[in-house]
Amino acid sequence: MVLFDPGSRIPLREFGILIPVAPNRSERVLDELRRSPVLAGRDESQWRLTSDGTELCRADIERVHAPEYVERLFSDGLKQVILEVFELIDDDGRPHRYDPALATHPLSDLFKGSLHWTARTYQAGSEALERGFCYHLGGGAHHAHYRFGHGFCIVNDSVVAIRRLQAESRIRTAWVIDVDAHKGDGTAALTATDASIVTLSVHMASGWPLDLPRYDKDGVEHPSFTPSDIDVPIESGEEGVYLVRLREALDRLWEYPRPDLVYVIGGVDPYEHDGLPSTQGLRLTLEQLLERDRTIFDRLRAAQLPQAWLMAGGYGERAWEPYVPFLEYALARTLDHE
Ligand SMILES: [Zn+2]
Repeated sequence: MVLFDPGSRIPLREFGILIPVAPNRSERVLDELRRSPVLAGRDESQWRLTSDGTELCRADIERVHAPEYVERLFSDGLKQVILEVFELIDDDGRPHRYDPALATHPLSDLFKGSLHWTARTYQAGSEALERGFCYHLGGGAHHAHYRFGHGFCIVNDSVVAIRRLQAESRIRTAWVIDVDAHKGDGTAALTATDASIVTLSVHMASGWPLDLPRYDKDGVEHPSFTPSDIDVPIESGEEGVYLVRLREALDRLWEYPRPDLVYVIGGVDPYEHDGLPSTQGLRLTLEQLLERDRTIFDRLRAAQLPQAWLMAGGYGERAWEPYVPFLEYALARTLDHE
């Protein structure tokens, strides 16, 4: 099933934030699926879910993030958090890729959207446990760390969802397979000492967040450098061996105990036509991206592991393109077999 909740959209431009996230990326994917021959003759309710009304509370966030950070999120400190997470003020104190005059909503509403979004990530996990496969057209905030949000990510939705499902005794263990162009640094750091969550990240070897200063003036290492259980850094120019490396990494992951649930952070920002300059270190074709996603899907499905996918990164006008053929592939194989 595909899960899309219009209420959990985060249209950054409506907050005056000028990051090139196409505001209609999820809707465009849905529109393409509505026209897809794979889904012809099916009522939309047979392949698409919307919000089931589940919401998250502060305690859900507190299972993952530091008490001081959670306090900032739920107080007047929120606006400052958002300015930092989206890097909207430069070193000289001036707005950076941010024009408050364009904003039609207060910045604080971004956190509400983020909570709705995180609740849908939880719902996607829940649905995957019931049905085997669910793709949330949102989510994937993998850069949020224990003490701070980072890289457009306020709350680490996949870890929040996993910890809630664990607290409800619906799962004991989970894997997070992250194939976004950027390293799943927040997820790796948050779960580094948690043996119940195994992380695999395939990402650009250089570039953000791995181009940040590794140590601060006190010699403390930035948490973005915390290793995932399995890290697969891909250098620029190594696109030709990307799929080989991915398959080797999945072989290594399969050596871990079988999990109860798998989240896949399916960012398409490695796409050669991605619109974010910082993703240019990895330029996969549409065909390579489809093969990437099919490889993961097929391995999980063959092992009968419940899989919940999240949209994560994907920027610019063409960001919708890689999602569609994979969803056609996955839906064709799951809809009549749930
Ligand atoms: Zn990314």
